[in-house]
Order: sequence, then C-alpha cells, then structure tokens
Amino acid sequence: MSDCIFCSIVDGDIPSYTVYEDDTVMAFLDANPLARGHTLVIPKAHHERVNDLPADLAADVFAAVHDLTDRVEDAVDAEATTIAVNNGAAAGQEVPHVHAHIVPRDEADGGRP
Ligand code: 5GP
Ligand code: ZN
Repeated sequence: MSDCIFCSIVDGDIPSYTVYEDDTVMAFLDANPLARGHTLVIPKAHHERVNDLPADLAADVFAAVHDLTDRVEDAVDAEATTIAVNNGAAAGQEVPHVHAHIVPRDEADGGRP
C-alpha cells in the first residue's frame, strides 16, 4: 500500500534499522522507542490487523518474534520483554499495518510500556 509507512519501510522508501528480514517478515527498530532495543516485527504484505492475516503469515510473524526475543534481550542486556500487539485503532494501533512490539524490560524500569 503506497500510503502505508510500514509498506514504505518494506519497499526501502523510508529508512529503518533492520534487524531481521526473510521472504515474508521484517523486523526493525522502533523510531520512537519505549526502551533501547524496542523492535517491531511485521509481515511484509500489507494487512491491517492480526484478524486479517492468513494463518500461515501469522505463524511466520510469531515465529520471528520467537526467534528475535533472545536476540533483543541480549543486545541491550534486558531481563525480560513485553511483547504486544495493538490490534485496531481503538486499542491504540497508530500504524494500520500489523506489527508486534518487542520491548526490552528490567525489574528496575518500574512502569508499564
Ligand atoms: P502502534 O501504536 O501502532 O502499536 O505502534 C506504532 C509504532 O510505530 C510506534 O511505536 C512508533 O514509534 C513506530 N513508528 C511510527 N512511524 C515509524 C517509522 O517511520 N519508522 C519506525 N522505525 N517506527 C515508526
Ligand atoms: Zn502496509
């Protein structure tokens, strides 16, 4: 979709710090991170919500989340991560292209993401 920020990132028209990419999935650092290492995992194809994803693509996205979580924690020496999807505008989804947040957490950070 031409007016979608994340499709523009997939197409290379908007720069991003890419941390993972394969045929169907891409992961890059959030431009406005809640914590150092905050990573977004997206399907390359444009789908607005998790409900819209074909099941095999949903599996690809979550497999990438699975594989990247250790890497994100190790990269910033975090104790844990919050993994979250805002699924629809009323749930706080600002970019209407499915994305999973991987937010590094520590016991000391106190607050909610
Ligand atoms: P949402 O509220 O939709 O779940 O989260 C959207 C996320 O996308 C936000 O954390 C925001 O910082 C991030 N974001 C928005 N525009 C860009 C961009 O152009 N590049 C990157 N890397 N992240 C973006
Ligand atoms: Zn898109």
